Amino acid sequence: MTDALMGVYNRAPLEVARGEGCRLYSTDGRSYLDCVAGIATDGLGHANPALVAALTEQARKIWHVSNIFRIPGQEALAERLTGACFADVAFFGNSGSEAIEGSLKTARRYHYANGQPERIDVIGFAGSFHGRTYAAINASGNASYLEGFGPRLPGYVQLSVDDEAGIAEAIARPTTAALIVEPVQGEGGARALSGEWLRRVRQLCSAHGVLLIYDEVQSGMGRTGKLFAHQWFDGCEPDIMAVAKALGGGFPVGVCLATREAAKGMTVGVHGSTFGGNPLAMAVGIKAFDMINDETLLAHVRAIGERLTAGLQELAERYADIVVDIRGKGLLIGIKLVPNNREMMATAREEGLLVAGGGENCIRLLPPLILSEAEADEALDRLETAFLVARRRLDDAA
Ligand code: PMP
Repeated sequence: MTDALMGVYNRAPLEVARGEGCRLYSTDGRSYLDCVAGIATDGLGHANPALVAALTEQARKIWHVSNIFRIPGQEALAERLTGACFADVAFFGNSGSEAIEGSLKTARRYHYANGQPERIDVIGFAGSFHGRTYAAINASGNASYLEGFGPRLPGYVQLSVDDEAGIAEAIARPTTAALIVEPVQGEGGARALSGEWLRRVRQLCSAHGVLLIYDEVQSGMGRTGKLFAHQWFDGCEPDIMAVAKALGGGFPVGVCLATREAAKGMTVGVHGSTFGGNPLAMAVGIKAFDMINDETLLAHVRAIGERLTAGLQELAERYADIVVDIRGKGLLIGIKLVPNNREMMATAREEGLLVAGGGENCIRLLPPLILSEAEADEALDRLETAFLVARRRLDDAA
């Protein structure tokens, strides 16, 4: 492999030549069942004909225009998104990190606009992941992301989701601006928060004028079987929400969504992006949105998620020496392991199954939302073969 790339990724020795649906084909002629999907990004599978058509049709018209002009696709996608959730307004960027950055800036500007510029503190949680920009690594709940990047920025508070008293105390502080949380923790290992937890935090935030930000970069766009994961529960809508990944079906796009009230500080000139909301991203995003915000597809996600989870639970019983826990929601599934998760990813890959890693020694299954029943069963079979290999390895070591 070339040494002309910064060495920031731990790359598997797999070179993808092309993809189709839930399959990837490598340059050395092997095929894989893809339960990574670009980390919950290729929601509608690879080379989806409808998305390819939307992209190529737009490419022939116009790729890029500045946000100093009106962009019809942006207006159309913003109308769709705000029509399908709590939000009134949208700001488009190109990634999850930018959606988070926009969300955090929106929250602080809200308090500034209210004449309370001292309210800057953002409460975040252990095990959370919000991206790699400076603001995002400060909001994230893993100190290793900050190492060597200078001092922790002021205005970021870290708590545990289990620390009820600490959360209540922090929300009540007069310098608190916002609380940011993933309704289903992704990188942390597919940990789903309860409706009770979300409602309690919603109520505390409302009582103290603190803005509630959901990071649905990974859990949103159908991943859990609802358009957004928090929509599983009543009474816990946020003020601001970051969405990305599957929003563009694999094309780079992210969005910060907010109520009109929460966004009142975001006035002309305070934020912006050259590429954010470009016509190519919007054309694919509109098509992907219409295909995902569809009750038939969402019901399919719920059914396939249940099928996979039931199969995994059954595997967990038979492989209690390998599997510690099955968790997550819909098609955001975490399998907490006894053997090393990186090793298991490699073993599964050898068996033709691609899975992602996750915190707490998990592997994650994040397949395209269109995974069929037969493909779900195939994933379970291949995973069992990988478990058998791991068991033999454990036995050999003993
Ligand atoms: N938030 C969450 C919950 C994520 O899972 C990710 C990416 N894994 C991000 C933010 C950052 O997104 P991006 O890599 O597109 O900047």
